Amino acid sequence: MTQETLLYTLPGMRDLLPDELARWQFIEQATRDVFGRYAFREIRTPLMEATELFARSIGQETDIVGKEMYTFRDQSGKSITLRPEATASVVRAYAQHAMYRGSGTTKLYYMGPMFRHEKKQKGRWRQFYQIGAEVLGSDHPAIEVETIEMVKSLLDMLEVKVQLLVNSVGCGRCRPQYIELLRADLQRMADHLCEDCRRRSVTNPLRVLDCKVESCQPYIEQLPRITDHLCEECTLHFNLFRKHLTMAAIPFEVTPRLVRGLDYYVRTAFEIVSVDLGAQNALVGGGRYDGLSEVLGGPPVSGFGFAMGLDRLVMLLPDRLSSLWVETTDLFLAHMGDQAFERALELARTFRREGFRCSLDFASGSLKSQLRLANRLNTRHVLIIGEDELASGRYLLKDLSDSSQRQLGAEEIIQHLRLPGASRHQAPSGEGA
Ligand code: AMP
Repeated sequence: MTQETLLYTLPGMRDLLPDELARWQFIEQATRDVFGRYAFREIRTPLMEATELFARSIGQETDIVGKEMYTFRDQSGKSITLRPEATASVVRAYAQHAMYRGSGTTKLYYMGPMFRHEKKQKGRWRQFYQIGAEVLGSDHPAIEVETIEMVKSLLDMLEVKVQLLVNSVGCGRCRPQYIELLRADLQRMADHLCEDCRRRSVTNPLRVLDCKVESCQPYIEQLPRITDHLCEECTLHFNLFRKHLTMAAIPFEVTPRLVRGLDYYVRTAFEIVSVDLGAQNALVGGGRYDGLSEVLGGPPVSGFGFAMGLDRLVMLLPDRLSSLWVETTDLFLAHMGDQAFERALELARTFRREGFRCSLDFASGSLKSQLRLANRLNTRHVLIIGEDELASGRYLLKDLSDSSQRQLGAEEIIQHLRLPGASRHQAPSGEGA
């Protein structure tokens, strides 16, 4: 490997730089606010788990387990996988820490990186970020709607326009019969299907419904619809789910072909898509996974959850909201001469203690170069400290938003910055830290 190649991230991986991260942090904060209103609490699970956890829960025949996991052996020879998604980990944690004790329903959310060795494509990364939520311990369709309402209200707050697609994928009782129907039909049309579909017709016929290949579409359209083959309980559940969506005034579209890529879903499955995302239009995917805990050796427990692609959400955030996340500095302290530099350091310390975001130049550049730096930092005010200011203890405070300037002492500057609208971060009232 040459020296040069060391200076690049791996394919599908990227650095998130400070300018970009302001958007991410804004979304993360909004998420905490909104999810908190629905009494969801954060959980953080390890980035690595035993490979078997994902293989068993996601399903051997899925693309994720079959082709996309970053799996390796650690020093003890154990097979380890970088998490491709977090639901399995959350369910594991729920069982491991006996979180079912004491409370009927447990509501958890997470944010963090996931890893899938996917083919390179726009909107797909090999390290990508998800915000997700899981509800354990309730099989009521109303909790599904409450969870969807939560993510929908977050997206509304962020002014992101989306569409909700819903379906029922049946349960252990009705789905096998439907899959047999599907398999029989697929065998009949095998000659017309793409290679992936032909393979999936045998290994995982439901996934054929997901196929995007143009020439397969007329044949897939002829396949039986799962919603016409649900058992009585699944039909009741799906009806109640739709009723609660209507009661919550959440628009939706029933999409019988929506099956999701993971094996563990039962009954309700949903996606939130955005036309603004292009080919990779899925923003949120989720559904019900009663029984997953048992598959992993845990107690029987109902589960419902979703994962949202943060990388994609960031792309959808409208620029017109940018004043909400653009980072600004309240005060830049420009100094001329060694003594002024020391005074600037001392004043910055004082203002920071009061809660203001302050910055100064350490390169002892000219006033002009310092002002350039102030500009780059998106500064609202510049304080100029020269010989006269040092002697008098009164400094020239320039407000760059309206070009006004005033001569003020340190205490007056604090009062001025505390005026409503004068700084991004209002100092806490009372004494400093
Ligand atoms: P999934 O876990 O596959 O249901 O994905 C849930 C959401 O995560 C998707 O709707 C996407 O928004 C996002 N997502 C999944 N895979 C990727 C990826 N490779 N790159 C970026 N976002 C992804």
